[in-house]
Amino acid sequence: MKLANVKDRAALVVADGVADIELATAGQFGPELAPIYDDWLDFADVARNVTEATGPLVEADLGCPVSPRQVFAIGINYRAHSEESGVTSPEVPGTFTKFPTCLAGPYDDIPLVGDTNDWEVELVVVIARRAHHVQKADAWNHVAGLAVGQDISDRHLQFAAADQWSLGKSRSGYGPVGPWVVTPDEISKPDDLAIRCSLDGETMQQARTSQLIFSVPRLIVELSAITTFLPGDIVFTGTPSGVGYVRQPPRYLQPGQILESWIEGIGTLRNRCR
Ligand code: ZN
Repeated sequence: MKLANVKDRAALVVADGVADIELATAGQFGPELAPIYDDWLDFADVARNVTEATGPLVEADLGCPVSPRQVFAIGINYRAHSEESGVTSPEVPGTFTKFPTCLAGPYDDIPLVGDTNDWEVELVVVIARRAHHVQKADAWNHVAGLAVGQDISDRHLQFAAADQWSLGKSRSGYGPVGPWVVTPDEISKPDDLAIRCSLDGETMQQARTSQLIFSVPRLIVELSAITTFLPGDIVFTGTPSGVGYVRQPPRYLQPGQILESWIEGIGTLRNRCR
């Protein structure tokens, strides 16, 4: 199942288009996304029977498919990225937040502020239910779905004031997510997905999620041991190597460039910088 946001209404991506959830469920669910995540298990049961499109799938209609109260993001979670960043691999997940108002749709423009903005393609995990102290073997049962995310980072702001990662990664529009949320049952090996991003067609990052230092189940265990997950919360799981600010010379996003972010089995984000 693929859950999308079509013109600010919850919709399922089906074989020949999209199915508006309020229409398809006779008003039981939709049009808002947040209550769907709040009642995820019941929704998933009902949504499984929705197969008929109510309209065409139009890329430009797609908005951000998540509506989280809490956004977790992991700083260093691929060994090659820790090496290029000149830091030792952490013993526990280095965690910050992206404030939810930075989230954006899969094809939205990225409104750049300043001249040190960087790309970070990431696997995004959407949490299915309220949870505290999740066990590792049960962790995937707490995942509603997976999406592609871009943790756009203003490096100057991020490293100001002796590091303020949350603020430096939370400018408006600096968190494209999508193109939809795919349930794990649709993905044959959810722990080993190819992940890539390109800038104007030039590959910048390329890895597999099996290279994560802290796997998706491990992140769910570690984070839920400290905080309580709420349904619909999301986790940006960290970015592979190939970011711009560590290059010689450094490279940053420029107005007019097209940033494409792709994960196997999920889909592609395409965001124009302006
Ligand atoms: Zn990141």
